[in-house]
Amino acid sequence: MGEDEIAAVTDVLRSGWVAQGPRVAEFERRFADMQDAHHAVATSSCTSALHLALVVAGVRPGSHVVVPSYSFIATSNAPTYVGASPIFADVDPVTGNITAETIAAALTPETTAVIAVDQGGVPVDLDPIKALCEPMAITVIEDAACAAGSVYRGRPVGAGAEVAAWSFHPRKILTTGEGGMLTSTNAAWALRARRLREHAMSASAASRHAEVLSGPEEYAEVGFNYRMTDLQAAVGLVQIERLGEVVRRRRELAAAYSKEIAEIDGLRAVEDPSYGTTNYQSYWVEVREDYPVSRDGLLGALARAGVSARRGIMAAHLEPAYADHRGVVVPLPATERLTRNTLILPLYHQLLASEQQRVIDVLRDPAPS
Ligand SMILES: *Cc1c(COP(=O)(O)O)cnc(C)c1O
Repeated sequence: MGEDEIAAVTDVLRSGWVAQGPRVAEFERRFADMQDAHHAVATSSCTSALHLALVVAGVRPGSHVVVPSYSFIATSNAPTYVGASPIFADVDPVTGNITAETIAAALTPETTAVIAVDQGGVPVDLDPIKALCEPMAITVIEDAACAAGSVYRGRPVGAGAEVAAWSFHPRKILTTGEGGMLTSTNAAWALRARRLREHAMSASAASRHAEVLSGPEEYAEVGFNYRMTDLQAAVGLVQIERLGEVVRRRRELAAAYSKEIAEIDGLRAVEDPSYGTTNYQSYWVEVREDYPVSRDGLLGALARAGVSARRGIMAAHLEPAYADHRGVVVPLPATERLTRNTLILPLYHQLLASEQQRVIDVLRDPAPS
């Protein structure tokens, strides 16, 4: 956060309009332009955007939604909110993303949707997934929480999805404090999501308060309060301007890590897939059998050198929340291997070369005598 974000929030406070209003509308327009999206609906979080996506796609109680277990738990929770069951599919061991093949292994006659995640910013290979699902009328929802600034087949990630959900939590590289977005090529879905995020009111609060005498509003269905505030959107409008430079710097730092790691036996770093580029939201490394220490051993060695790294992406099916999950059980060998053996290295656009060198020194010699 810089002085520009602080000034933008101050302007909103002075304007007197702090809830969802003109800045949210402008943030939606700018985000849609940047992501090549037809319609953009700002929300309180990616989790609420995923929930709305499932509602507008018509996912009903009792149906099955294929998700990667290898993802932040919100990906699995969203289907649960609409009374559906998440069905865990495995991921590609190289990218960490679900594929048409792993989804095919998890389909059932009850499957009505798939949530495809761009894990850690690595674009998911969406075209084969759409080719698999569309003939069966299965909706493909892209969980692009981590992926603003990533590219899939020459276009911004999410542009090819019928509906995608985004996060602006501070853990992601474009932040509004908390916040999310739903983007869609489907005008009717976007309109319904826009109403549902605001209690399914027929006229938005912003439009009603712009009139001296406002007409009565109507509530056609049961909605939610999933609004973003103008305070948040003002921050987002500044952050959008920074995104290109932030991604460029992250990719430069990632290239410096990757060059070193390529020469270390037993370590493998995340990289761009053949069909796109990642924003390196998460720079993860797999610790293999032939490395001198285990993943947890390496985390310890980094901590002793004052470097705070983190365990890799979680696996939802191993969490107590899904311990008595009675879905279809598909073997998840790549998921279990990645969640056990990966860690996420420090990577942020202000990271100094000297700090990065300290991390690399530990990777080269995790057990100094
Ligand atoms: C962060 C994240 C979410 C949740 O985003 P919120 O904005 O915190 O709700 C969902 N899915 C994935 C893949 C994420 O990384």
